Amino acid sequence: MAEKVGFIGLGVMGRPMARNLIEAGNDLVVYDRNQSSVDELSSSGAEAAGNAGEVAEKSDVVITMLPNSPHVREVATGEGGVLERMREGSLFVDMSTISPVVSQEIAQVAQEKGVGILDAPVSGGDVGAQEGTLSIMVGGSEEDFERARPLFEVVGKTFVHVGGPGAGQVVKAANQIVVAITFEAVSEALVLGSKAGVDPAKILDVLSGGLAANRIMEVRRKNFLEHDFTPGFRVDLHHKDLGIALAAGREYGVPLPVTAILDQMLQALRMKGQGDQDHSALLTVIEDWAQHRIGETA
Ligand code: NAD
Repeated sequence: MAEKVGFIGLGVMGRPMARNLIEAGNDLVVYDRNQSSVDELSSSGAEAAGNAGEVAEKSDVVITMLPNSPHVREVATGEGGVLERMREGSLFVDMSTISPVVSQEIAQVAQEKGVGILDAPVSGGDVGAQEGTLSIMVGGSEEDFERARPLFEVVGKTFVHVGGPGAGQVVKAANQIVVAITFEAVSEALVLGSKAGVDPAKILDVLSGGLAANRIMEVRRKNFLEHDFTPGFRVDLHHKDLGIALAAGREYGVPLPVTAILDQMLQALRMKGQGDQDHSALLTVIEDWAQHRIGETA
C-alpha cells in the first residue's frame, strides 16, 4: 500500500510541492499555521490537520518545508511536535533550508526514536517547485533515501544522496555561497564596464562565450539590464542562507571571508528596504558605491 504523506509548511514552495504530490496520486495530510493555505490544499484533495502532531500521527512519511532552523526545531522536536508523535519505522524528511548543525541535532532525536530522517533542501525556486523540477541535495542513510525516492521523483528532477545527516544542508550552504558571489562578480563587471563607457548588454554577450560564462548571467540577464528585481529569490532569504553558511564555517573551522562580505551587502540591501527584491538587486549596491547606473552614460 502507498505510504500516507504528511506535509507541513504550505508557503511559496510547500504549496506547489504538496499539490504536485496530490496530483501524482499520493494520499496527503497537511498543516500550516496559516489556515487559508490548509484550506487551499484541502480543496485540492488533501486531508486537513489541526496541528503538526496530528499530521505525524496520521502519516508514514512527514515532509516539512518551513522558513528556518527555529521553525523546524519547534515543529520537529518541540512539545507535541512531529518526533514526539511519529510511529517507530516512519520517515521524517525536512526539505527546508536550515543550519546543518540543527539538522544533525534533529537527526539524533529521530534516530533515538527509531524514526528515519533525511535533510533534503532544494534549489530551483518557486518555478522549480511548481514544475516539479527542483534539485534536491539529500543527507541521511541510503535506505531512507531510497524510501523517499518516489516522492523526490515527483517534486524534483535532480536528487543526489550527498552523505550522512546534515550533508544536504552543507551542500545547500555551499550552493548559496557560489550563487551570491557570482551575482556580486557579475555586478562588479557590469558597473565597471558600463561606467567606463561599454554597453552592459555587450559585456554579457561576450563574457557568456568565455571562461567567465555562468548560468546567473544567462537567467538573470534581463533583471540586470532592465533593473527588474521582481523575485525570484528574495534578498531576505539569501541573507538567511549566508547566515547559515557563516555559522557552519564557524562550527567546522572554515574561514569564509568573501561570504561574510556578501552577507553584509545583503544586510545593507535589507536595511534600504530591498529585502523583498530578487537577489540580482546586489547590482544596486555596486551601482550606489560607484555612483553609476548601468546603461546610463556618465
Ligand atoms: P514561506 O515563508 O513562503 O513558507 C513557509 C510556510 O511555513 C508558511 O506558509 C508559514 O505559515 C509556515 N510555517 C511557519 N512556521 C510554521 C509552524 N511552526 N507550523 C506550521 N507552519 C509554519 O517560505 P518558502 O519560500 O516556501 O521557503 C521554505 C523553505 O524553502 C525556506 O527554508 C527557504 O529558504 C527554502 N527555499 C526557498 C526557495 C524560494 O525560491 N522561495 C528556494 C529554495 C529553497
